Amino acid sequence: YDDRDGKIWMDGQLVEWRDANVHILTHAMHYASSVFEGERCYNGKIFKSVEHSERLIKSGKLLDMEIPYSIEEIEKAKYDVLKANGWEDAYVRVVAYRGAGEDMGVASNKNPVRMAVAAWEWGAYYGDAKMKGAKLDIAKWKRPSPETIPTAAKAAGLYMICTMSKHAAEAKGCSDALFMDYRGYVAEATGANIFFVKDGEVHTPDPDAILNGITRQTVIGMLEAKGIKVNVRRIMPEELEGFEQCWLTGTAAEVTPVGQIGDYTFEVGALTREIAEDYEKLVRA
Ligand code: PMP
Repeated sequence: YDDRDGKIWMDGQLVEWRDANVHILTHAMHYASSVFEGERCYNGKIFKSVEHSERLIKSGKLLDMEIPYSIEEIEKAKYDVLKANGWEDAYVRVVAYRGAGEDMGVASNKNPVRMAVAAWEWGAYYGDAKMKGAKLDIAKWKRPSPETIPTAAKAAGLYMICTMSKHAAEAKGCSDALFMDYRGYVAEATGANIFFVKDGEVHTPDPDAILNGITRQTVIGMLEAKGIKVNVRRIMPEELEGFEQCWLTGTAAEVTPVGQIGDYTFEVGALTREIAEDYEKLVRA
């Protein structure tokens, strides 16, 4: 992705794509002092754009990092990037991080907090699985306790085990991995939340040790508006066997049906298809 034409917003300016570099002594590179957002722009409008900017600022606060831009400035930066690249439909990545500076140790209050915004065209996150149902591996790593790391932050450090788990999953021919949490309950995939259907009701994990995704919250609202009961609760891995349908939600994943988790299989059923279609309509409304 680095050597191509285009514009990226860095610390208040649009720069050439291939010149959007950071110094090797950037604090974030060594200590994961970085938070980010993934957003999608549809027909020229970023879905839940302000909610994403708010979450970025909140993630920064959770990492003891004050992002030196207001919501309005972040909003403008995102649209400036889309306009500069001429995109109406794109994935938008905002990243805020501790830069290089006086401190090279763990403490970094003297180093500036920097921000960048890039966007690129990114189709269906799980490719064909979007129609057929994705196959998920069960990750060997566990989502950590909120007493171990601020799990509500969309922070780089939380993704280390995601990359490792996704590599392991892909090596087994799976599209992604499903994590259990530190207590052993069903948690989330490496970049998406999970939902199950049984006997006409929906079940999804409590958001106490996972990222409470903006898509997750949107889909819960859509289901409730249809009068479908959503049970937000602790889900035991043993329960996977009894669920009839399953899907993932996320900005990149949108609503992606799941066909298999480990040895358990699920049908791409009517409700899964209906929610996927409704979500597609909603983001373009
Ligand atoms: N969980 C994780 C670990 C993620 O990376 C994401 C993607 N941001 C999600 C859930 C879904 O969040 P959202 O719907 O806000 O994109």
